[in-house]
Amino acid sequence: MTRTLSLNDGRQIPQLGFGLWQVPAAITAETTATALRMGYRLVDGAAIYGNEQGQGEGIRRSGLPRDQVFVTTKVWNSEQGFDKAVRAAEASLTRLGLDHVDLLLIHWPCPANDLYLDTWRALIRLRDSGRALSIGVSNFQEPQLQRIIGETGVTPAVNQIEINPRLQQAALRAFHDRHGIVTQSWTPLGQGRSFGAAPVQAAARRTGKSPAQVILRWHIQIGASVIPRSTREAGLAENLALFDFTLTDAEMAAIATLDEGARCGPDPAQFNMA
Ligand code: NAD
Repeated sequence: MTRTLSLNDGRQIPQLGFGLWQVPAAITAETTATALRMGYRLVDGAAIYGNEQGQGEGIRRSGLPRDQVFVTTKVWNSEQGFDKAVRAAEASLTRLGLDHVDLLLIHWPCPANDLYLDTWRALIRLRDSGRALSIGVSNFQEPQLQRIIGETGVTPAVNQIEINPRLQQAALRAFHDRHGIVTQSWTPLGQGRSFGAAPVQAAARRTGKSPAQVILRWHIQIGASVIPRSTREAGLAENLALFDFTLTDAEMAAIATLDEGARCGPDPAQFNMA
């Protein structure tokens, strides 16, 4: 099965999982059950994806014991603030049909709204009451991380951020390492922007792997948890086969040169969409 990383709260997170963004609600249960039966053990969802019912149904359909599946969901921007966030998390649990999630994240900081600190306090409450075993954030940058840690004394277990070879986020990852925060990479394949890049192609030729596998392996070797999305069984299988090869130091260094700070998604400093 997939490897795990240690969280700063003493728990473990699978290093590889699969994501449910843009997975149609009608096929989410089947996709989730298929992925779990294939060997995935982490399923990344969010209230805003509109498919939490299928996420929960897929977990039950997989036949796996609940404690063998690491379930993530996220509090959406419009639900920030202490009371709203508690209610939003409870509503997510109802849709999932679960009494707790393994990881609950604040989806975006929305700095202009200035509610992420109160929202973080709500997540601490939800952790203390057992509704989330671990808590973390997503799309937070260093100033917001500093603030929630400084104000509450509770360090997020995870920060889920956009990372791919064109956007490597080395400074933020170094901050995470100093604070024991696990980095989790979203849009890890970067919309295929680096599939044709020479260092990726060269590593793919040497290892007999696909460009997508080389890039996902790069995430594994920088120490991140990674959550690619595919609704095709062949794609899910391809993205699972990351632990039977290793990129060399030279290949890792060559891929590091592809960084150009270019995002696929929005800039978290500016994004405040409800
Ligand atoms: P991704 O990088 O996983 O890419 C998905 C796209 O790549 C799909 O079009 C898929 O068909 C294709 N693909 C998948 N495997 C492939 C392969 N082996 N070869 C070629 N193409 C392949 O992108 P994503 O879905 O944007 O991100 C992954 C997950 O991260 C999401 O599903 C979601 O769970 C999470 N996410 C979180 C945030 C956030 O703000 N926290 C934002 C975006 C995504």
